[in-house]
Amino acid sequence: MLLKGKTAVISGAASKRGIGRATAELFAEHGARIAILDIDADAAAAAASELPKVDTGAHIGLRCDVADRASCQQAADAAIAAFGVTHILINNAGITQPVKTLEISDADWQRIVAVNMTGVLNLSQVFIPNMRDHGGGSIACMSSVSAQRGGGIFGGPHYSAAKAGVLGLAKAMAREFGPAGIRVNSVTPGLIQTDITGDKLTPEMRTDILKGIPLNRLGDARDVANIYLFLASDLSAYVTGAVIDVNGGMLIH
Ligand code: NAD
Repeated sequence: MLLKGKTAVISGAASKRGIGRATAELFAEHGARIAILDIDADAAAAAASELPKVDTGAHIGLRCDVADRASCQQAADAAIAAFGVTHILINNAGITQPVKTLEISDADWQRIVAVNMTGVLNLSQVFIPNMRDHGGGSIACMSSVSAQRGGGIFGGPHYSAAKAGVLGLAKAMAREFGPAGIRVNSVTPGLIQTDITGDKLTPEMRTDILKGIPLNRLGDARDVANIYLFLASDLSAYVTGAVIDVNGGMLIH
């Protein structure tokens, strides 16, 4: 039990096969009380009700559009009212779109940047004061191998840019809030088998991608959840501003 007595807020944790949902399950197995924040309110409530129970109170599912500051504030108010203190924030929500540079419309750019990057700032801003007032916490932010190698897997250049922005933002927050006991780290997964790729990942693409992965398999949501668990728990008590690759060796650098 690595998170006994802790509370954790996880964004983008409603989709059944997603990384956020796997993280919520793993954290609950380790004793944490969870708030699932997702743009899909019904799915968030259903996901929360299906998590392993803990003895510190019921898990909660809340609607939150991470791209919308007011929606984040509302969700934070509700989560803090229920929990009192928030120990862990997992900035996981994200969307992607497989287009090339010349095809990116202004609306595409705004949407991809707003959810993947501005969302990290929005949720961090609404939870950090509570963490600071209670002596610290741990924030983990979702980036992607796409930020490090300029895409080439699935997301377009706007996705790479937004996920690269997350790395800079997380490092800057780590520097700023370290003295307050708040650690901020990032994860950079390779290709993880979730529904984010829709039906656009063909068997041929899959075979091609596998050739570049030394561990010879695509990732599972649990592979990333395990790294979030490490970053959320005291196992990583002296780690901040770090970027952890979870890619089967797809990018060794
Ligand atoms: P997913 O589609 O299963 O999960 C994404 C979740 O985010 C969904 O529950 C969705 O409802 C929610 N969401 C979407 N827009 C939102 C918004 N505006 N506000 C709040 N919630 C919102 O996909 P996943 O693969 O589990 O993705 C999780 C994160 O991992 C994303 O940030 C994604 O970019 C990142 N990532 C995924 C992979 C991969 O290969 N699957 C690789 C690297 C990074």
